[in-house]
Amino acid sequence: MSERKSVLSCIQPTGDMHLGNYFGAVKNWVDLQETYNCVYGVVDYHAMTMPYNVKKLRNNTWDLITNMVAVGIEPQNIFVQSLIPEHAELGWIFNCFCSYGQLTRMTQFKDKSSQVSESGKEAFISAGLLDYPVLQAADIMIYKADYVPVGKDQEQHLELTRDIAQRFNNQVGKEYFVLPEALYTEVPKVRSTADPSRKMSKSAGEKHYINVFAEESRIRKQIKSAVTDTGDSQSEGMSEGVENLFSLLKAAGGTDAYAHHMEQFSNGGLRYADLKHDVAEALVDLTAPFKEKKAELNANKKELKNQIKQSSWEIRKRAQQTVKEVKDLVGLLNVRF
Ligand code: ADP
Repeated sequence: MSERKSVLSCIQPTGDMHLGNYFGAVKNWVDLQETYNCVYGVVDYHAMTMPYNVKKLRNNTWDLITNMVAVGIEPQNIFVQSLIPEHAELGWIFNCFCSYGQLTRMTQFKDKSSQVSESGKEAFISAGLLDYPVLQAADIMIYKADYVPVGKDQEQHLELTRDIAQRFNNQVGKEYFVLPEALYTEVPKVRSTADPSRKMSKSAGEKHYINVFAEESRIRKQIKSAVTDTGDSQSEGMSEGVENLFSLLKAAGGTDAYAHHMEQFSNGGLRYADLKHDVAEALVDLTAPFKEKKAELNANKKELKNQIKQSSWEIRKRAQQTVKEVKDLVGLLNVRF
């Protein structure tokens, strides 16, 4: 019997789950559970790397877990990073196998550190922000993941993980870590309906994202007011806004409506109001069961908390084993108290 390959992916608890997060990442995770042994981390240590609200972090963590389970992630596949201290331990060890120069060249560090300096009165760029790709390498290698689902924005980080693992292997003179591979899946890039020139994202503000768990009426309203064309001619090709609506319709499973409106578009007779109506319907149909499930989970929070405590504990055993082996290999004491 061939063993299933393992997949690892992580998400930061930074607030609402929007359609970009769902179609661009989490839906894929739900599907991958059919084929792989999956572990999904709610990485609260990473959420501390940018300025954040200490009063909100814990709630955001539980809320994200609830959201993940509500959309179909199995609770036994979820762990919370800060419940598994070995992540930070391996992260430290990996710091010593990673060059400072390589970290400063990370595109995300450059992007995010410039965001911090533009927005804050007194720019505070934490050492954690520079260092977080190393912790991410530890998140991946601690479970010896075969595959990591990545989007374009994370490719460089996976490359860094492979570099660290390779340098580690060279130093200890053993192919201890098998280098993880990227798992590419066709996922849509969802745009903001309020401004289709930018991606749907929380950081741009509430009107730029559609919460997966939003009320039906809010979803309808946001789609109804979606920006379509700035001009009025359909002959100049499809605008980003209309393309985004088609992409949402397809992602939400409105296959027949998609084909119908596409045909209308080809004939030059697409009616935006009809397209929007069908997009809203498809999104409402898709998300209604998620909201129902979330309400159920919230009605019994204690049970979910216990499940996550248990799953983090089970997953931690694997992390402990790796760290024990790593400590042996790098020459640290392995005394048991
Ligand atoms: P946000 O930009 O709202 O803070 P994150 O950066 O936390 O979202 O993204 C979490 C996950 O969701 C990542 O895997 C990211 O690639 C995916 N994602 C975020 N926004 C989009 C989008 N607009 N389209 C597709 N995928 C997205």
